[in-house]
Amino acid sequence: MQGGAGVTRKIKETYHRLGEIVVRKGAARPSDVDEALAVQRAAIADHRAPQKLGDILVDRKVLDRATIREILEEQKVARGEKRVLNIDLREHDDVAVVVLDGRLDETKQETLTKVLERLMNRGFGRVAFDCTRLVYLNSHGVSSFVKYVDEARARGGDLKFFGLNPDAKFTLDRLGVSKYLQMFLTEDEAIRAFALPIDEYMSRGSLGEYVASSDSRNFHLSYCATMNAVEDDDKQFFESKKHARDAGKTPCKRCKP
Ligand SMILES: [Zn+2]
Repeated sequence: MQGGAGVTRKIKETYHRLGEIVVRKGAARPSDVDEALAVQRAAIADHRAPQKLGDILVDRKVLDRATIREILEEQKVARGEKRVLNIDLREHDDVAVVVLDGRLDETKQETLTKVLERLMNRGFGRVAFDCTRLVYLNSHGVSSFVKYVDEARARGGDLKFFGLNPDAKFTLDRLGVSKYLQMFLTEDEAIRAFALPIDEYMSRGSLGEYVASSDSRNFHLSYCATMNAVEDDDKQFFESKKHARDAGKTPCKRCKP
Protein backbone atom coordinates (compact mmCIF):
# COMPACT_ATOMS: atom_id res chain seq x y z
CA MET A 1 0.00 0.00 0.00
CA GLN A 2 3.05 2.25 0.35
CA GLY A 3 3.18 2.79 -3.43
CA GLY A 4 -0.57 3.39 -3.59
CA ALA A 5 -0.41 6.16 -0.99
CA GLY A 6 2.45 7.79 -2.92
CA VAL A 7 0.42 7.78 -6.12
CA THR A 8 -2.60 9.21 -4.32
CA ARG A 9 -0.50 12.06 -2.97
CA LYS A 10 0.85 12.67 -6.47
CA ILE A 11 -2.67 12.91 -7.86
CA LYS A 12 -3.64 15.40 -5.20
CA GLU A 13 -0.61 17.56 -5.87
CA THR A 14 -0.34 17.35 -9.62
CA TYR A 15 -3.62 16.39 -11.13
CA HIS A 16 -6.12 17.83 -8.76
CA ARG A 17 -4.93 21.29 -9.75
CA LEU A 18 -5.77 20.59 -13.36
CA GLY A 19 -9.26 19.57 -12.24
CA GLU A 20 -9.66 22.83 -10.37
CA ILE A 21 -8.46 24.89 -13.33
CA VAL A 22 -10.70 23.27 -15.94
CA VAL A 23 -13.73 23.80 -13.69
CA ARG A 24 -12.75 27.39 -12.94
CA LYS A 25 -12.33 28.05 -16.68
CA GLY A 26 -15.74 26.55 -17.37
CA ALA A 27 -14.09 23.93 -19.60
CA ALA A 28 -15.56 21.03 -17.58
CA ARG A 29 -18.28 20.49 -14.96
CA PRO A 30 -17.26 19.52 -11.42
CA SER A 31 -19.06 16.20 -11.96
CA ASP A 32 -16.82 15.50 -15.00
CA VAL A 33 -13.74 15.98 -12.84
CA ASP A 34 -15.22 13.91 -9.99
CA GLU A 35 -15.91 11.07 -12.41
CA ALA A 36 -12.39 11.30 -13.85
CA LEU A 37 -10.92 11.26 -10.32
CA ALA A 38 -13.04 8.20 -9.56
CA VAL A 39 -11.51 6.48 -12.60
CA GLN A 40 -8.04 7.27 -11.23
CA ARG A 41 -8.94 6.00 -7.76
CA ALA A 42 -10.37 2.80 -9.20
CA ALA A 43 -7.10 2.18 -11.07
CA ILE A 44 -5.07 2.72 -7.90
CA ALA A 45 -7.38 0.45 -5.88
CA ASP A 46 -6.69 -2.12 -8.58
CA HIS A 47 -2.91 -1.58 -8.22
CA ARG A 48 -2.70 -0.22 -11.75
CA ALA A 49 -0.95 3.01 -12.70
CA PRO A 50 -3.70 5.62 -13.10
CA GLN A 51 -4.16 7.54 -16.33
CA LYS A 52 -3.54 11.27 -16.13
CA LEU A 53 -6.62 13.34 -15.36
CA GLY A 54 -6.25 15.26 -18.61
CA ASP A 55 -6.10 12.02 -20.62
CA ILE A 56 -9.23 10.71 -18.92
CA LEU A 57 -11.11 13.94 -19.69
CA VAL A 58 -9.99 13.73 -23.32
CA ASP A 59 -11.00 10.05 -23.58
CA ARG A 60 -14.39 10.89 -22.14
CA LYS A 61 -14.73 13.73 -24.68
CA VAL A 62 -15.07 16.36 -21.96
CA LEU A 63 -12.10 18.32 -23.34
CA ASP A 64 -9.94 18.21 -26.41
CA ARG A 65 -6.21 17.77 -26.26
CA ALA A 66 -5.47 21.33 -27.42
CA THR A 67 -7.36 22.78 -24.44
CA ILE A 68 -5.44 20.55 -22.01
CA ARG A 69 -2.13 21.52 -23.55
CA GLU A 70 -3.03 25.19 -23.32
CA ILE A 71 -3.94 24.84 -19.64
CA LEU A 72 -0.69 23.00 -18.87
CA GLU A 73 1.23 25.74 -20.69
CA GLU A 74 -0.59 28.41 -18.67
CA GLN A 75 0.41 26.58 -15.49
CA LYS A 76 4.03 26.65 -16.61
CA VAL A 77 3.76 30.42 -17.16
CA ALA A 78 2.19 30.83 -13.73
CA ARG A 79 5.13 28.96 -12.24
CA GLY A 80 7.53 31.24 -14.09
CA GLU A 81 8.84 28.55 -16.45
CA LYS A 82 9.31 28.96 -20.19
CA ARG A 83 8.79 32.67 -20.52
CA VAL A 84 11.38 33.28 -23.18
CA LEU A 85 10.60 34.63 -26.61
CA ASN A 86 13.40 35.39 -29.03
CA ILE A 87 12.52 37.63 -31.94
CA ASP A 88 14.74 37.71 -35.01
CA LEU A 89 14.36 39.75 -38.15
CA ARG A 90 15.42 38.99 -41.68
CA GLU A 91 14.41 40.12 -45.15
CA HIS A 92 13.06 37.98 -47.97
CA ASP A 93 12.11 39.70 -51.26
CA ASP A 94 10.99 43.03 -49.71
CA VAL A 95 9.16 41.18 -46.96
CA ALA A 96 10.26 41.55 -43.34
CA VAL A 97 10.31 38.07 -41.84
CA VAL A 98 9.85 38.12 -38.08
CA VAL A 99 11.03 34.89 -36.49
CA LEU A 100 9.15 34.07 -33.30
CA ASP A 101 11.07 31.55 -31.22
CA GLY A 102 9.48 30.55 -27.92
CA ARG A 103 6.29 31.74 -26.23
CA LEU A 104 4.14 34.69 -27.22
CA ASP A 105 1.84 35.74 -24.39
CA GLU A 106 1.04 38.76 -22.21
CA THR A 107 4.66 38.97 -21.01
CA LYS A 108 5.96 39.46 -24.57
CA GLN A 109 3.04 41.22 -26.23
CA GLU A 110 4.59 44.67 -25.77
CA THR A 111 7.97 43.57 -27.12
CA LEU A 112 6.35 42.32 -30.30
CA THR A 113 4.17 45.42 -30.58
CA LYS A 114 7.34 47.57 -30.47
CA VAL A 115 8.98 45.48 -33.18
CA LEU A 116 5.92 45.92 -35.39
CA GLU A 117 5.76 49.63 -34.68
CA ARG A 118 9.41 50.02 -35.70
CA LEU A 119 8.84 48.04 -38.89
CA MET A 120 5.83 50.18 -39.82
CA ASN A 121 7.83 53.35 -39.10
CA ARG A 122 10.61 52.10 -41.35
CA GLY A 123 8.05 51.66 -44.14
CA PHE A 124 7.66 47.89 -44.00
CA GLY A 125 4.04 47.02 -44.74
CA ARG A 126 4.83 43.44 -45.71
CA VAL A 127 5.54 41.30 -42.70
CA ALA A 128 5.63 37.50 -42.53
CA PHE A 129 5.82 35.74 -39.18
CA ASP A 130 7.94 32.62 -39.07
CA CYS A 131 6.08 30.57 -36.44
CA THR A 132 7.94 27.30 -36.94
CA ARG A 133 9.55 27.71 -33.50
CA LEU A 134 6.61 29.38 -31.79
CA VAL A 135 5.69 26.92 -29.04
CA TYR A 136 2.84 28.84 -27.46
CA LEU A 137 0.46 31.62 -28.44
CA ASN A 138 -2.45 33.04 -26.47
CA SER A 139 -5.03 35.79 -27.01
CA HIS A 140 -2.70 38.49 -25.62
CA GLY A 141 -0.06 37.51 -28.14
CA VAL A 142 -2.61 37.56 -30.94
CA SER A 143 -3.67 41.11 -30.03
CA SER A 144 -0.32 42.50 -31.29
CA PHE A 145 -1.11 41.14 -34.75
CA VAL A 146 -4.68 42.41 -34.72
CA LYS A 147 -3.41 45.85 -33.76
CA TYR A 148 -1.20 46.18 -36.84
CA VAL A 149 -2.90 44.17 -39.57
CA ASP A 150 -5.15 47.04 -40.72
CA GLU A 151 -2.23 49.45 -40.81
CA ALA A 152 -0.14 47.03 -42.85
CA ARG A 153 -3.04 46.51 -45.27
CA ALA A 154 -3.65 50.26 -45.56
CA ARG A 155 -0.03 50.48 -46.77
CA GLY A 156 -0.70 47.87 -49.43
CA GLY A 157 1.00 45.17 -47.39
CA ASP A 158 -0.16 42.53 -44.94
CA LEU A 159 0.81 40.41 -41.96
CA LYS A 160 1.04 36.76 -42.97
CA PHE A 161 1.92 33.67 -40.97
CA PHE A 162 3.61 30.40 -41.70
CA GLY A 163 4.63 27.26 -39.85
CA LEU A 164 2.08 27.53 -37.03
CA ASN A 165 1.67 24.44 -34.87
CA PRO A 166 -1.86 23.02 -34.39
CA ASP A 167 -2.26 24.60 -30.94
CA ALA A 168 -1.39 28.08 -32.16
CA LYS A 169 -3.75 27.59 -35.10
CA PHE A 170 -6.45 26.49 -32.69
CA THR A 171 -5.94 29.71 -30.69
CA LEU A 172 -6.36 31.79 -33.86
CA ASP A 173 -9.46 29.79 -34.87
CA ARG A 174 -11.02 30.13 -31.46
CA LEU A 175 -10.53 33.91 -31.49
CA GLY A 176 -12.05 34.14 -34.98
CA VAL A 177 -8.82 35.67 -36.29
CA SER A 178 -8.07 32.94 -38.82
CA LYS A 179 -11.00 34.26 -40.85
CA TYR A 180 -8.96 37.29 -41.86
CA LEU A 181 -5.29 36.48 -41.22
CA GLN A 182 -3.61 34.43 -43.92
CA MET A 183 -1.71 31.35 -42.76
CA PHE A 184 0.59 29.18 -44.83
CA LEU A 185 2.55 25.99 -44.36
CA THR A 186 5.80 27.30 -45.80
CA GLU A 187 7.71 30.55 -46.04
CA ASP A 188 7.74 30.45 -49.84
CA GLU A 189 3.95 30.20 -49.98
CA ALA A 190 3.61 33.16 -47.62
CA ILE A 191 6.11 35.30 -49.57
CA ARG A 192 4.44 34.42 -52.88
CA ALA A 193 1.03 35.50 -51.55
CA PHE A 194 2.32 39.07 -51.11
CA ALA A 195 2.31 39.40 -54.91
CA LEU A 196 -1.40 40.20 -54.75
CA PRO A 197 -3.16 42.82 -52.63
CA ILE A 198 -5.10 41.30 -49.73
CA ASP A 199 -8.42 42.37 -51.32
CA GLU A 200 -7.88 39.70 -53.97
CA TYR A 201 -8.14 37.08 -51.23
CA MET A 202 -10.94 38.64 -49.21
CA SER A 203 -14.70 39.04 -49.56
CA ARG A 204 -16.84 40.89 -47.02
CA GLY A 205 -14.04 41.18 -44.50
CA SER A 206 -13.17 37.46 -44.54
CA LEU A 207 -10.72 35.32 -46.45
CA GLY A 208 -12.77 33.60 -49.14
CA GLU A 209 -12.57 30.27 -50.86
CA TYR A 210 -13.20 30.83 -54.57
CA VAL A 211 -14.69 28.08 -56.65
CA ALA A 212 -16.20 27.47 -60.07
CA SER A 213 -17.70 24.54 -61.90
CA SER A 214 -15.74 23.63 -65.00
CA ASP A 215 -18.70 24.18 -67.36
CA SER A 216 -19.69 27.65 -66.07
CA ARG A 217 -18.25 31.09 -66.79
CA ASN A 218 -18.79 32.30 -63.21
CA PHE A 219 -16.79 31.90 -60.04
CA HIS A 220 -18.34 31.89 -56.57
CA LEU A 221 -17.70 31.95 -52.86
CA SER A 222 -17.59 28.33 -51.72
CA TYR A 223 -20.89 28.73 -49.82
CA CYS A 224 -22.86 30.15 -52.76
CA ALA A 225 -26.12 28.19 -53.19
CA THR A 226 -25.35 27.87 -56.89
CA MET A 227 -22.51 25.49 -55.99
CA ASN A 228 -24.72 23.10 -54.00
CA ALA A 229 -25.71 21.12 -57.08
CA VAL A 230 -22.13 20.85 -58.36
CA GLU A 231 -20.29 17.55 -57.81
CA ASP A 232 -16.97 17.88 -55.94
CA ASP A 233 -15.14 16.36 -58.90
CA ASP A 234 -16.49 19.14 -61.04
CA LYS A 235 -15.28 21.96 -58.79
CA GLN A 236 -12.31 24.11 -59.58
CA PHE A 237 -10.74 26.06 -56.69
CA PHE A 238 -8.83 29.32 -57.00
CA GLU A 239 -6.28 30.84 -54.67
CA SER A 240 -7.72 34.33 -55.19
CA LYS A 241 -10.29 36.27 -57.18
CA LYS A 242 -7.50 37.28 -59.57
CA HIS A 243 -6.60 33.64 -60.19
CA ALA A 244 -10.27 33.01 -61.06
CA ARG A 245 -10.44 36.01 -63.39
CA ASP A 246 -7.17 34.96 -65.05
CA ALA A 247 -8.80 31.59 -65.72
CA GLY A 248 -11.55 33.42 -67.63
CA LYS A 249 -14.18 33.35 -64.89
CA THR A 250 -16.36 36.29 -63.92
CA PRO A 251 -17.81 36.98 -60.46
CA CYS A 252 -21.24 35.45 -59.76
CA LYS A 253 -23.98 38.07 -59.50
CA ARG A 254 -25.65 36.18 -56.67
CA CYS A 255 -22.83 35.69 -54.11
CA LYS A 256 -20.75 38.63 -55.43
CA PRO A 257 -17.31 37.23 -54.47
ZN1 LIG B 1 -22.28 32.56 -56.54
